[in-house]
Amino acid sequence: MIEYESLAQSNQKFMAELEAAASRVIRSGWYVLGQEVGAFEAEFAEYVGAKHCIGVANGLDALILSIEALDLPKGSDILVASNTYIATILAIVRAGHNPVLVEPELETFNLDPARLPQAMTANTRAICVTHLFGKTCRMDAIGAFAREHGLKVVEDCAQSHGARLGTQMTGTFGDAGCFSFYPTKNLGAIGDAGAIVTNDDALADRLRHTRNYGSKQKYVNRYVGVNSRLDELQAAMLRVKLSYLDAMTVHKRALAEIYFANLPEWVSKPVRRPDEYDVFHIYGIRHPQRDALRQHLLDNGVKTEIHYPIPPHRQEAMRGILAGSYPVAEELHATELSLPISAGHTADDVVRVAALIGGFAHKETAA
Ligand SMILES: *Cc1c(COP(=O)(O)O)cnc(C)c1O
Repeated sequence: MIEYESLAQSNQKFMAELEAAASRVIRSGWYVLGQEVGAFEAEFAEYVGAKHCIGVANGLDALILSIEALDLPKGSDILVASNTYIATILAIVRAGHNPVLVEPELETFNLDPARLPQAMTANTRAICVTHLFGKTCRMDAIGAFAREHGLKVVEDCAQSHGARLGTQMTGTFGDAGCFSFYPTKNLGAIGDAGAIVTNDDALADRLRHTRNYGSKQKYVNRYVGVNSRLDELQAAMLRVKLSYLDAMTVHKRALAEIYFANLPEWVSKPVRRPDEYDVFHIYGIRHPQRDALRQHLLDNGVKTEIHYPIPPHRQEAMRGILAGSYPVAEELHATELSLPISAGHTADDVVRVAALIGGFAHKETAA
């Protein structure tokens, strides 16, 4: 069986170092906002090329706290891709604003900058972009549009650790870059964790307060904050894994290269552009008989995933919040299939998956 991902297998290479780091924290006697969080924040800010990094409890909180810290008028319209993972939309709603869906480009799964003008309203104050599957959105075009209309930009980088447009990393294009370190992400903790990066001193200072009851100084509260701190133990785990992030990205890109070379013509493969450095959090193909193809792979011992089976505007939670029809999102949700591409997979695994997909074509054409 080729699993979609086995986290124990993905973390196998780091096991000894993770255990040593965990032991270091346990023995230190300092478990909340200590040295490990401080060190990880400095190391991750440097990695991304941002001035500040503020560790938080998870990716959703990173988004909520960032959007809230923009201090937009309550109930502002915020543009967001119609096919993003629902967390981006939940964050906009939780921060007290209205998500306005913008359709993505079919070929890249990412927000289509050409559709921004028609989505603008008099009430639009910000854009939340998601660099889905580890591919950078066109931040050149999106940034220019935002500047022209005075919009704030928040980046959802939960799937794009280390992804670049030219030499610039995701997280540094907008006002704030929000990261999740959920265990399956390209930089994954051993539990929940998240962070915000920013070059804005005032925003960083506010976030350092709001993640900790609105307080930076013990018993002095400046804002109505929350408890959403990056855990000291998780920060220690992340420091170990950050030192291997580039190597893991190289591994994933090598596996992607095998898919590009070995997958049959008749599946739609991810689109690559010369100035985009994709990190393949997900290798998503598209096929009209997605469910049958997925079953064929399962019958042959390969597990896959769908990102995502139900588009946000069809979720029960979004009734009364999201209206309208989104044919591009519908098409993507109906045809997308995510192939195994984790740190624990080998070139042989991926060659086998690609060959099995080739076999599905034969069946289909024979029928
Ligand atoms: C995983 C993910 C999140 C949420 O991160 P958590 O740490 O699980 O809260 C947000 N947005 C996207 C695009 C994600 O993939």
